[in-house]
Amino acid sequence: MINKLMEISAEHLNERKKDALFIARMELAAQGQFPRFLLISPITRSGQDLQLLSMNQGDALHATRVPGFAILPPDLTPALFTGPASFYSRFPSKKGVIVTFDIDESLEVIRETLENIKLHPELQSMPIIAFQVNYDNLRVKLIVHGKGRDYEYENRILHWVRKPDPLDDSLLVVICSDSRVRPPCTKRGVPMAIQTLAGYISKYSQHDDETKQLNRFFEKWLTSSKDTKRILIVAHGNFEGSGPSCSAGTESLNPRATSSKSLRLMIEELERSAIEFESIPASSPEDRVKSLSKATRANLLTYPAIVDSHDISQLEIDEVLMDTVTNALYLYD
Ligand SMILES: [Zn+2]
Repeated sequence: MINKLMEISAEHLNERKKDALFIARMELAAQGQFPRFLLISPITRSGQDLQLLSMNQGDALHATRVPGFAILPPDLTPALFTGPASFYSRFPSKKGVIVTFDIDESLEVIRETLENIKLHPELQSMPIIAFQVNYDNLRVKLIVHGKGRDYEYENRILHWVRKPDPLDDSLLVVICSDSRVRPPCTKRGVPMAIQTLAGYISKYSQHDDETKQLNRFFEKWLTSSKDTKRILIVAHGNFEGSGPSCSAGTESLNPRATSSKSLRLMIEELERSAIEFESIPASSPEDRVKSLSKATRANLLTYPAIVDSHDISQLEIDEVLMDTVTNALYLYD
C-alpha cells in the first residue's frame, strides 16, 4: 500500500509544482506556519473538509472530533482537541475556530460540542464558525449559535465551498495537526484522518474520556464490512535536508520550555511516550517523531476494538515519513 501512496503523492507533487499558488505556499511553509483557522472535523471528514472549504497548505491547523459524539470538556480530550487548540492559540494570524458536523449528527451533539469548545481557556474569545454538511449533495448549513460568531468569515467561507473528492473509508491516516501537512490521498479518494500534535494517540484508558469515544469509532469502522482496513501513521519533519521539523516533536525534546500549561501537559506526554522507544533520548526532532509513531502504534494496540481486528488480520497498521514542505512520502530506513 505504501508504495502506491508514495507514487500518488509524487504525482500530486509534480502536478502542484506547476501551480504558482502552491509554490508560494511551499515557500511560506519553509519559513514556518501561520494558520488562520483551527479546523475541527469529524474523523470521517478530516481530509475532505480541507477540500470542501478550499483550505490550502498552511491555512488551517487541525483538531479532531469523533463522529456521532460531542467534543468532551477540555480535560477529557487532551490529544484530539485540547492540545491542538492550545497550540493554535499561540499564532497571531488566528481568525477563529471552524467546526463541521455531518448531516446525520444530532442537535445535542452540536450544542454540547460548541459549549465544550468554549470551555477551552485559550479559545474563549475566539469566534466559532459552525457548519452542518451533507457531503453527498454539497449542502452546507451555517449553524446559528450564541457562542461568539464572525459574520464576515462565515460568509467568506461559504463562498469557498467546493465539492471534495470521494471518501476512501478503508484508510485511516494518523497525522500531525500542523497546517502544512495533509493526509495523503489514495486512488479511491480522500482517507479519513485523526490529526493531533505530532500525530500522537494516547493509550486506551478505560475511562469515560476521548479514548472511549475513539474505541467506539474503531469498533464501528472495523466491523462495518469484512474488507481489510488500514491505518497509516505519518511522522512529518525535515526529510529532504533543509525544511522545518515537526513543532510539537521539537517541543517534546524540552517540554519545560513550553509556557502554556494545557499545552505543556500534552508535550510532556509526548516526551514520556517517545522515550520508551529510544535507547538514548532523541537528539533531533526527526528521530523524536519516529519514536512517537512507534508509541502511537503501540498505543493503538491497547484499544480493544483494534486488538480484535488486528488479531484476525482485518487491520494492517503501517508507518511512513512525510516532508513538512513538499508532503512527499518516504519509507523508514
Ligand atoms: Zn507536527
